[in-house]
Amino acid sequence: MDFELPEELRLFKQSLRRFVDSEMIPVERQTTLEDGEKLKPEYYQRFCQRAKELGFWKMDVPEAFGGAGLSVLARSLVEQELSRSIALPARGMGGITGPSVRAILYSLKGEMKEKYLLPALRGEKRACFAQTEPDAGSDPGSMRTVAVRDGDHYVINGVKRFISHADEADFMQLMAATDRAKGSHGGISCFIVDMNTPGVKLTARYSTMMGDRPWEIVLENVRVPASHRVGDEGEGFRHAQQWLGAGRVRHGARALGVTERCLEMAASYAKQRSTFGRPLADRQAVQWMLADMYIELEAARLLVYKAATGLDKGEDARQDAYVCKYFCDEMAFRAADMCMQIHGGIALTTDLPIEKFWRQQRSFRITEGASEVMKMVIARHVLKTYG
Ligand SMILES: Cc1cc2nc3c(=O)[nH]c(=O)nc-3n(C[C@H](O)[C@H](O)[C@H](O)COP(=O)(O)OP(=O)(O)OC[C@H]3O[C@@H](n4cnc5c(N)ncnc54)[C@H](O)[C@@H]3O)c2cc1C
Repeated sequence: MDFELPEELRLFKQSLRRFVDSEMIPVERQTTLEDGEKLKPEYYQRFCQRAKELGFWKMDVPEAFGGAGLSVLARSLVEQELSRSIALPARGMGGITGPSVRAILYSLKGEMKEKYLLPALRGEKRACFAQTEPDAGSDPGSMRTVAVRDGDHYVINGVKRFISHADEADFMQLMAATDRAKGSHGGISCFIVDMNTPGVKLTARYSTMMGDRPWEIVLENVRVPASHRVGDEGEGFRHAQQWLGAGRVRHGARALGVTERCLEMAASYAKQRSTFGRPLADRQAVQWMLADMYIELEAARLLVYKAATGLDKGEDARQDAYVCKYFCDEMAFRAADMCMQIHGGIALTTDLPIEKFWRQQRSFRITEGASEVMKMVIARHVLKTYG
């Protein structure tokens, strides 16, 4: 059921579902290179073309910048439907929604806008986002990468870890401490740094269970013009927070798609597979798993739609977004796990998409805001608001 979705979005969702069912699911095990990080060129081109035809090309780029400017709710439907298949890499959907930039780049003006924002939106330049460090992941306020002002430049030193697509990037959006004592409360600034700046080195690459291969970057006396600082000094973290709300809702939407597919697969397998003379679907132990998946999915859908609608109305939907990320990512992992349990041994093979859903969803309980960190901020809100 699609609770209160406007007619136009309901039809959009249906067209996405048809596309996924007929063009993605049948080929989903053969679309990516390197076990999942990137699409093979032929699939990349085919899916980009379909994104243009179906109306989600450049979906999060405002119309004023030549994009489709879809609402957060409409984008959630795209994430939700496309995530029913493992055809696309889970992080960034393999780029098939076209060039996209983090919201922070829209605040660039004049020469910086011409040099970075516009080429990035045209797909001529690529960016990576470098915040995490060996000693600062969930708690970016403790970062050790420092940017020290030196005349009309900053000199930056430090190490960044787990930076996705650093090898393909032309520039990075780098978070660095301009006042370590203040940490995330006014001590972190954001800089645009060309990857070919002297002193920037890609020093290691990690292999992960999901197929993603993020990088370690060392910065040694990297000189960056002060004009490359985005926003005021110390405002970098506040800027970063602005786009994170929509990112957390995106996690929620993706989890809806994964859970729905797992539920479809588990219910259909439970009906056809018999053990000890009866179909699995007759067993209460199995029925309860299916019921649990369904109950959570129904609740999660409302959370995602509520948070997305709140962001579209310009409301402060931060709490809804935290709840969304926590509840939905945890739910989808449980759903993948139960779907795996119901399928037995065949779920562990790469003939089916279940093991990949399981690996991907396991990772989302850690990355882009670990579940415990979501709960920490939700608890702060509860203590402030209740009792
Ligand atoms: C494949 C991949 C791609 C990534 N891409 C990027 C990228 O492009 N750019 C970027 O900047 N970063 C990126 N990251 C980094 C990612 O966002 C971090 O790994 C994540 O934020 C967690 O940080 P951490 O690994 O340092 O864990 P830590 O912060 O050390 O936390 C470890 C664990 O401690 C627990 N924990 C933490 N804080 C609390 C608390 N307050 N209360 C209770 N428990 C707590 C959680 O269970 C958490 O999982 C990527 C990571 C991976 C694996």
